[in-house]
Amino acid sequence: MTRNRILLAVLLAALALGPLVLAEFHITLLNYIGLYAMVALGLVLLTGVGGLTSFGQAAFVGLGAYASAYLTTAHGASPWLGLLAGLALTAAVALLLGAITLRMGGHYLPLGTIAWGISLYFLFGNVEFLGGHTGISGIPALTLFGQELKSGRDFYYLIWFVLLVLVLATRNLLDSREGRAIRALKGGALMAEAMGVNTPRSKIVAFTVAALYACLSGWLYAHLQRFVNPTPFSLNMGIEYLFMAVVGGVAHVWGALLGAGIITVLKQWLQDWLPGLFGQSGNFEMIVFGLLMIFILHRAREGLWPLLLRLFPGSVAHRPPPAAAEPLPRRTLPPAGTPLLEVREASKRFGGLLANDRMNLTVKAGEILALIGPNGAGKSTMFNGISGVDPVTSGSVSFLGERVETLPAREIARRGMSRTFQHVRLLPAMSVLENVAIGAHLRGARNFVHAALHSERGEEARLLHEAAGQLVRCDLAEHLYDPAGSLPLGKQRIVEIARALAADPCLLLLDEPAAGLRYLEKQALADLLRRLRDEGMGILLVEHDMDFVMGLADRVVVMEFGKKLAEGLPDEIQRNPLVLEAYLGGVE
Ligand code: ADP
Ligand code: MG
Repeated sequence: MTRNRILLAVLLAALALGPLVLAEFHITLLNYIGLYAMVALGLVLLTGVGGLTSFGQAAFVGLGAYASAYLTTAHGASPWLGLLAGLALTAAVALLLGAITLRMGGHYLPLGTIAWGISLYFLFGNVEFLGGHTGISGIPALTLFGQELKSGRDFYYLIWFVLLVLVLATRNLLDSREGRAIRALKGGALMAEAMGVNTPRSKIVAFTVAALYACLSGWLYAHLQRFVNPTPFSLNMGIEYLFMAVVGGVAHVWGALLGAGIITVLKQWLQDWLPGLFGQSGNFEMIVFGLLMIFILHRAREGLWPLLLRLFPGSVAHRPPPAAAEPLPRRTLPPAGTPLLEVREASKRFGGLLANDRMNLTVKAGEILALIGPNGAGKSTMFNGISGVDPVTSGSVSFLGERVETLPAREIARRGMSRTFQHVRLLPAMSVLENVAIGAHLRGARNFVHAALHSERGEEARLLHEAAGQLVRCDLAEHLYDPAGSLPLGKQRIVEIARALAADPCLLLLDEPAAGLRYLEKQALADLLRRLRDEGMGILLVEHDMDFVMGLADRVVVMEFGKKLAEGLPDEIQRNPLVLEAYLGGVE
């Protein structure tokens, strides 16, 4: 058994046996920890993994609690109907709020969540049919398998069962194609878009799932307490949920449980102890939480969960390469010589700088076109314009006969163009294999529900198999499970190529792929690119190593100051006085 399995078994046994030995007070505490952990779990997904900070989760807890409280008391509905209504309402509100706020970058998103967190709180307090600040009482108990859940003890197993199911579903979700897309949001959104990920959609998914977890917690809370008022759904509580996620381990699923446990127990204890110490009553615990938060952010960014794991050193699991799976269907490549890419009079302006000035380019199937030029000539800018990462200001880009200059990067990727980045864009903590699997994103179709249920394992196996195959092809087979960030930079560039190949493109854009490679590695790369060309792929290549370029390219385009300086066969280019002037500052 691995370390994690043992820890899990101990946890489950303790949870199962707990009610047999614990006093009522401790059961209540554990119930609250379970309820809070559900909300914190949503934040792990949203904030820890997705990088989207929300202070407003308490409001979603309130939606779940109030929806069922109102329907069951005012209309005599069953609590289960209350649950469905709460989930539907929360999903609708989350989709709406998400559509409005998730576009906002930087600190605007957290501010936005504070705004709606406060709004919903005051809505609960001021709407008459929700009981105003007095709240709603007389909420019926839940009935499960013909049994009324009247006490905290009755509720205990339900709460912890729901929590464990959510933990499992979240882990499944993160370990999937949809999960990789969500994991790419923090620090890799631009790359993910270029690999075909619809990042706005991934954000909405993470946001809505987190809101639904909160709603579920609120529904359980309402029927456990049998009474709701606005207080537990305030911004204060929203901040506390965020504390829990951060303290536990903001990017670790089990961290949510740990954080909820620590904060809840600590709060209990501090509330008993601190007023005695200071000789007056007050919310002193919040001061301690503030200090704790600062300490954690300084000393344990990842939260306490990874520290806890370090106390139980486990054997490093030796993982076999992904099992053989049926290969994914491949794109039929256009016949050699077919024009794939046609750039016409494309310009890109950055304020006063014309980084691309009426550029013209054609790349055909089965050829390697090298784009060369001094630093700052505008080559990477051209790549961004072609791939939709940073669209051209004017002019046209046609791919496979279709105008694409106004399409988002993911749509261009879908049509069969894939690229690497000059400044490597890998997710450093993610394994090499999973990084490459992001490249195959568009070759899978199962959604996040399949992912949470792990009913997409067949497709996932095929995606991972594809990724592994590309890594083998690129001579990186021994690094499948290494964190991508642990590889030397030259190899990271090759991982980028494998990722681009996993998309099964017909046109490959490589921005300085050989930089940082040793001589033999460069030769291996050149061999690979020749093989790809011979299979019919078109390749547009930016490279500084002239030996590499001249031995490989079929044609060369030279850029200087954003303009095309020359175009021709490698031999011609090497003898072109204009080019020698640009590169060497004059003909010898
Ligand atoms: P190359 O790849 O040929 O070395 P780049 O395309 O990276 O050149 O850059 C071309 C010019 O455009 C440079 O002067 C660079 O400073 C400028 N540039 C590139 N990206 C941006 C940007 N996002 N904003 C402003 N200027 C930029
Ligand atoms: Mg560049």
